[in-house]
Amino acid sequence: MKPPAPRLRTAAVHAGESPDPATGASAPNLVMSSTFVTHEAGGFSAHDLDEESGYLYTRWSNPTVAQLEAKLCALEGAEAGLCFGSGMAAAAGVLFSLLSAGDHVIMSDTNYAGVAELGRDTLPRMGIDATFVDASAPLNVEAAIRPRTRLIWLETPANPIVRLTDLEAIGVIAAAHPRIRVAVDSTFATPVATRPLELGAHYVMHSLTKYIGGHGDAVGGAVLGSREDIAALRLEAAIHYGGILSPFNAWLIMRGAATLPIRMQAHEENAMAVASFLEDHPRVGRVIYPGLASHPQHDLARRQMDNFSAMLTFQVDDGPALAEEMARRLRVIHYAVSLGHHRSLIFWMDTPSLMETSFRLRGDALASYREYAGDGIFRMSVGLEDPADLCEDLARVLP
Ligand SMILES: *Cc1c(COP(=O)(O)O)cnc(C)c1O
Repeated sequence: MKPPAPRLRTAAVHAGESPDPATGASAPNLVMSSTFVTHEAGGFSAHDLDEESGYLYTRWSNPTVAQLEAKLCALEGAEAGLCFGSGMAAAAGVLFSLLSAGDHVIMSDTNYAGVAELGRDTLPRMGIDATFVDASAPLNVEAAIRPRTRLIWLETPANPIVRLTDLEAIGVIAAAHPRIRVAVDSTFATPVATRPLELGAHYVMHSLTKYIGGHGDAVGGAVLGSREDIAALRLEAAIHYGGILSPFNAWLIMRGAATLPIRMQAHEENAMAVASFLEDHPRVGRVIYPGLASHPQHDLARRQMDNFSAMLTFQVDDGPALAEEMARRLRVIHYAVSLGHHRSLIFWMDTPSLMETSFRLRGDALASYREYAGDGIFRMSVGLEDPADLCEDLARVLP
């Protein structure tokens, strides 16, 4: 009889980390070697690679990075995974390896700024047509499909406004078009909350820099999917584009990933406490957090997220002035970009400037964005400190 699959917390600790057969070492080895000695003369091209090939060169694959990839596969329920040097390298790897000149991609109109700008500026320069839609309404995605559509790129919850996309609904729409693949940036959700591959996505992408690494000390990215899709991605995006993850960062991120499920529990608990404190504060306007009943998509959040994660936003009357105060006077929370670390981080995101730089929305799309973000938001990544200290820190700077 096959033993039952380990539960999530057990998989997070053990997957990819069996003891070293040579030494019995219990913790993962850090293999920094760039090249590997072979005892058979073989091919030198990426096209000679197959699943049985041993290690050849670290840009192809590396034992420490492979251990992290195995752990991520166990967490996402994926057949295969591939790590990159950053989340952006992972996103660019998927976009450029799947899309060719003349192809069309549908992208969520609100997402990580780097991806938003790559979609709006770089893809068109390569002859790839991109349509940006408010994917929180699945019909917008369906209406944007064209004969040359090859990919739907989603992000849920979407940076920075924490607006959700119904992955199951879009999975159903895409399934009617066999040529269309669905890729989901699941960085805000983590595999503890949402497993997009089970909901019809073909690729799930993470910035490992965020919750999965979890400690703000290693930049990395990953893409998970089917064995065949990931093998093709490795050949093109890792071996030919070259943006691979350093084994040292893989080793650090693996150590972080082992505690992902228990960290996410504590992150959610803290975010709930901070969100409720902010919602009750007389100087705070709108608070958006998927775990609050007041989130416009709270029902979808309950259906799609097993954990509400710890990204929240709030609005106040004079955001820029409070941002100045925070940068100078916060004691516990760091006024800094990025997210998903054990340390709490907060940053002001001004709507008009984001419209100029990253999102460039108009009409209904802008109205939907403003419904979540008004003139601007404080985006907070609630960390693992005592939530009472976080609330005190915020209370001290709020007007
Ligand atoms: C940070 C982030 C990225 C980019 O990841 P890097 O590791 O910084 O390159 C992509 N998507 C989301 C949602 C992110 O938060």
